[in-house]
Amino acid sequence: MIDKEYLLSTIRDVPDFPKPGIVFKDITTLLNNAQAFTMLMEHLENRYKEYNLDFIAGIESRGFIFGAALATRLGIGFVPVRKKGKLPYTTVDEKYALEYGIDEIEIHIDAFRNKKDARVLLIDDLIATGGTAEAAAKLIKKVGANLLEACFIINLTFLHGEEKIKQHTNFYSVLEIA
Ligand code: IMP
Repeated sequence: MIDKEYLLSTIRDVPDFPKPGIVFKDITTLLNNAQAFTMLMEHLENRYKEYNLDFIAGIESRGFIFGAALATRLGIGFVPVRKKGKLPYTTVDEKYALEYGIDEIEIHIDAFRNKKDARVLLIDDLIATGGTAEAAAKLIKKVGANLLEACFIINLTFLHGEEKIKQHTNFYSVLEIA
C-alpha cells in the first residue's frame, strides 16, 4: 500500500537551488531510501500493469531512473527523451519555452522500433510549468506512437502544468505539492 505522507516526507527541500528563490525538490533522498523507492515502484507497477504498455519513455535525467525501473518491472522497453545533442542516431526534436529563452529535447526517430501505434507511457520525476513534458508528449506523437498517459512522481500544483499535458494525453501524478 502506498503511504503518500510518508513518501512526501522522504523528499528533501533544497532552498535557493539552482537559483536564489527556488526551493528544489530533491528526490535523491527518496531514491536512497529502499522502503520509499520500493513502495513507489510497487504503486506504479500496480497502476500500469493493466495498461498493456509497449514502452516507457523517460525524460532526462530523473525520468530515466523511474522510467527504467518501471520498464523492467513491466517487462517492456525503455526510451530516453534527451536534451539536444546527446542522442547519437537520427533524432526528431521539439523546442519549448523556458522562463528565459528556449530549450530543445530529442528522441530517436526509431525509438519505438517502428512499432505501429506503440502504446507508450511518458514519465518524469516532477512537473512544474509542464513545458518539458508537453514537448516530450509532442515528440512521442511525432514519431507515430500512441501516448496513453503522462506520469509524474511530484506535481507542483500551483504552477498548473497539468493543464498543458491534458491537451495531449491523460495526466497522473503520485504526489501533489501545493
Ligand atoms: P517544467 O518544464 O517547468 O514542468 O519543469 C520540469 C522539469 O524540470 C523536469 O524535468 C524536472 O525534473 C525539472 N525540475 C524542475 N523543478 C524541479 C525540482 O524542484 N526538483 C526536481 N526537478 C525539477
